Amino acid sequence: MIRNLLSSKQRNPIQERCAKDSFTKLREKYALYYHLAESQSGTRITIDGKELIMLASNEYLGLSEHPKVIEAGQDALAKWGAGTMGARSANGGRAFHRELEEELAEFLGRQACHVFSAGYLACMASITSFAQRGDIVLVDKNMHSSVWDGIRLSMASVERFSHNSAEHLESILQQLDPATPKILSIEGVYSMEGHICDLPTLLAVARQHNCFVVLDDAHGIGVLGNEGRGTADHFGVADQIPVIAGSLSKSLASTGGFVAGDRELIEYLRTHCKQAIFSAAISPAPAACALAALRVSREEPQWNERLWQNTRRYHALLEELGLDTWDSQTPAVPIVLGNRERVYRFWQRLWEKGVFSVISTAPGVPPGKDLVRTAISARHTEEDFEIVEAALRHAARGL
Ligand code: PMP
Repeated sequence: MIRNLLSSKQRNPIQERCAKDSFTKLREKYALYYHLAESQSGTRITIDGKELIMLASNEYLGLSEHPKVIEAGQDALAKWGAGTMGARSANGGRAFHRELEEELAEFLGRQACHVFSAGYLACMASITSFAQRGDIVLVDKNMHSSVWDGIRLSMASVERFSHNSAEHLESILQQLDPATPKILSIEGVYSMEGHICDLPTLLAVARQHNCFVVLDDAHGIGVLGNEGRGTADHFGVADQIPVIAGSLSKSLASTGGFVAGDRELIEYLRTHCKQAIFSAAISPAPAACALAALRVSREEPQWNERLWQNTRRYHALLEELGLDTWDSQTPAVPIVLGNRERVYRFWQRLWEKGVFSVISTAPGVPPGKDLVRTAISARHTEEDFEIVEAALRHAARGL
């Protein structure tokens, strides 16, 4: 018999807490965030029978339906089966893991790489593997949740600096004991804001204070740099960054994540990192799809070119409409509306006109920065742009 545990008479304190988080409030949130599409094709998804343009995917290069990517996934399933059923450190390692790692490492100009079943695990691991009690992690205050979790688990101390501010970083570092081991944790492209990290300036400060730098480039890979090698390549400073972590779920059109660096660092990670030792290895199909997407992204530069054409067009449209994009410089484009009511209204009006976007409100973003997050893909077409423009005008009128 199926029983609703939360409504049973004898609740323990945990059930009590969950139940008290007002079910109505919870349902409202749930309805706004946990959408289920019943089908998708290209940039279109269908939800409850309504066709919408996907304007919030991180699939920047638009490769998830590329024939070579699909074929690679199908072949991997046929050859290796569905799962790995074990960690890399135990029974789960397969030749395709090494193939993906070697190509990713070569692509990023690193000696070695380790892949994980999620970008979240990889980005956590990029901190927990190297930071320990007694160290200090200096972190941009707008970093992704995976890094904050990594810092907490590592037991290192934390110092937050203002978003993208080398000046603030410098002023903090001046107060710290030079002998304490330090890690600087930054993102290449900040996913909510669409900001490109001020890498050259931050690295100059890091160098002066002997910080070990860990870059999360989940949103830079495929988007910036030669052949999409990411933010470090964009600035020509890849050789100054010991560790680059990232996700396979954005431009590489799959799921999973990686940490890349010098061989001795990655070997150290493999023997010290719980996320690598105790979690099952990435499955065959996602690994094969990511590898195929990586190859396509290098062989077919038109996807990156189209992404940037679409991005420039979209930025110009938002500027013409007078919408606040938080100075986004990339295909990740927030529309800052300032408070929850305006965000909900704007999001609703986009939906009415057939455009799917994502809501992000405080505490997920700083107070006053409540926003609708949108993102551009290489796949958005002329027709998509016409619908998006009409929907944005409709939403802006409703403010
Ligand atoms: N780092 C950043 C900056 C991200 O934006 C994300 C996901 N949005 C992750 C890590 C985690 O990646 P994944 O979704 O592949 O787990």
